[in-house]
Amino acid sequence: MVNPLLSHAQHNVVVPDQDVLQQWKTPDNRFGSYEDFLKGFQTQGYRFTFFNEINQPKKQIALRHDIDFDTNFALQSALIESKLGIKATYFFLLRSNFYNILSPQDFENIQFIRKLGHCVSIHFDPSIYEDFHKGLQLEVDLFREIFYLDVNIISLHRPNTFFQELDQPIYGIEHTYQSKYFRDIKYFADSTGVWRFGHPFDSLEFSLQKSLHILIHPIWWMLDEPSSNLDKLKVYFEQRVQALKREFSNNCIPFRKINESL
Ligand SMILES: [Zn+2]
Repeated sequence: MVNPLLSHAQHNVVVPDQDVLQQWKTPDNRFGSYEDFLKGFQTQGYRFTFFNEINQPKKQIALRHDIDFDTNFALQSALIESKLGIKATYFFLLRSNFYNILSPQDFENIQFIRKLGHCVSIHFDPSIYEDFHKGLQLEVDLFREIFYLDVNIISLHRPNTFFQELDQPIYGIEHTYQSKYFRDIKYFADSTGVWRFGHPFDSLEFSLQKSLHILIHPIWWMLDEPSSNLDKLKVYFEQRVQALKREFSNNCIPFRKINESL
């Protein structure tokens, strides 16, 4: 059967009958069920690997998660992946204004993700350090202390052109923008809630089962109702406001008197 996801030029590529891929043919549904999205790759014959296991030109995917906002969404995606026998690499900010890896809930979530068999590591923001080598050294030491884990690879938070083109490890540690992960294999990202480099299922690389590097931000997938990225952010923002109110109320008795009026 012809795969409707492919352009006419690609129709000579033989793709097996794949009902699971059919629902992705309309642009509106490009952030639907995360489980079905992952099944699409499995149906196409892909295996999910850690970054340091990418060693084949075909059928391998390094699935990467940069956690910018919320470890709860990360845990949700980790559970879905685990159910499908998929492993991914989760990168967490150590110095975020949105979550705190040492808070009880965030710490538990990260430990749970790790117990599910995923790799956890550092999402590094070099812009907050005068000397980013020393900054990374500090964060690696902290990460090792907190999680008893060595750091073999990092991802960079909002990298500028310098870091996107940096092909060397930083402080001796590999990062996801090195050519072997960023240029030698096809890269897809859902940053800002949009497929900036196209949807993977539309690509020639996917139809040819070429190895891929896919960046997924769970926040765009784990909110069921809203469809646009802006609507998702509105819902998420309101959830955070309510959670902040609950936290204030639980920890500050006078706040309870003004909680209702806020
Ligand atoms: Zn980031």
